[in-house]
Amino acid sequence: MNARACDTDVLVVGAGPAGVAAAVMAASLNLRTTVLDAGPVGGKLHRISALGNVPGSWTTGPQLAEALAADLERLQKAGRCTLEQGRAVKASGHADRAELSLADGHVLTAETIVVATGVTDLAPSDVEWVTAPSEFSAPPLWRATAQELTGRTYVLGADRPLGTWLRAHPNVTTTLHVLCPPTDRYKAAEVEDDPRVRLVPVSQVAITKPRYGEGWTVEVKGHDGAKTIYSVTSVLNNLGNKPAALDGLVSDENGYCRPDQQHRRIRIAGDLRSARFQRIATAQGSGAEAVLAYYYDTTLPGGGGTR
Ligand SMILES: Cc1cc2nc3c(=O)[nH]c(=O)nc-3n(C[C@H](O)[C@H](O)[C@H](O)COP(=O)(O)OP(=O)(O)OC[C@H]3O[C@@H](n4cnc5c(N)ncnc54)[C@H](O)[C@@H]3O)c2cc1C
Repeated sequence: MNARACDTDVLVVGAGPAGVAAAVMAASLNLRTTVLDAGPVGGKLHRISALGNVPGSWTTGPQLAEALAADLERLQKAGRCTLEQGRAVKASGHADRAELSLADGHVLTAETIVVATGVTDLAPSDVEWVTAPSEFSAPPLWRATAQELTGRTYVLGADRPLGTWLRAHPNVTTTLHVLCPPTDRYKAAEVEDDPRVRLVPVSQVAITKPRYGEGWTVEVKGHDGAKTIYSVTSVLNNLGNKPAALDGLVSDENGYCRPDQQHRRIRIAGDLRSARFQRIATAQGSGAEAVLAYYYDTTLPGGGGTR
């Protein structure tokens, strides 16, 4: 298959900061560019109610997401980029093309695929220190509004969105009882002086439905083995995340996909690369760089320097 026979030159999966930066770079190099996302443009930015570490004057994630959506719209109007909705399930590299399989059965082909699918929420069933019945579901903390916090609110895990949420809700006075396993201890340091946080060190948590009444029964086993039982109105999920890798990618023991270990037609950008440096600015840098690495790759037919 020659390059023009592929559906597009650069197929970007994920329209978060990394994917949009990749698309902007690809379009600026006059490469035929397609962006696929299962959700809205902006990715995790939609969850960031108080934004930091980002060049520019944005103070919330949704503001920056809107700016990224406007960038893509401008490229679409200029005929330099196509935005498609869909969920990717598998990426594979071949000598003459890269292929992306979608959940609906479609297959897209490209000269190169930039995978920027980021990380996705851990569910209670993903972590060893929590047991819960199948009907248990905990809404995410990052989405909770002040009005929803009534009664005793427990938070599963002390991942970083806790600090963001507290900064974004300075007037909330409800106490959050944060069930914190040893692995989250270092993340909790930034919130432990906040009087609205009660950190509960745990080694195991068992959640069950009470025989009578609403809510949940939460049995907590502390580090010393002592058990305490709480009757809880609401439990929020703040367990953290796992890489949103696609089938066909090479991943490490934690599920992250190192860019240098993939097929040469598959590039990885943003949070999916590693648990380290998960920041908007580095995601954007890696997206642009992934496209440049493809553009200058002299090992690809029709690649580097010949364009
Ligand atoms: C609560 C919170 C606060 C944060 N605060 C900050 C901050 O203040 N400053 C900072 O620098 N960083 C912050 N971050 C981190 C920052 O949001 C991420 O580093 C950044 O969004 C990563 O960009 P990305 O493009 O790699 O992935 P994402 O933003 O996660 O985007 C991934 C995109 O891929 C799509 N996708 C996933 N799987 C598929 C699939 N199979 N098929 C199709 N599409 C798919 C998703 O829908 C999503 O749009 C915060 C994160 C959180 C959760």
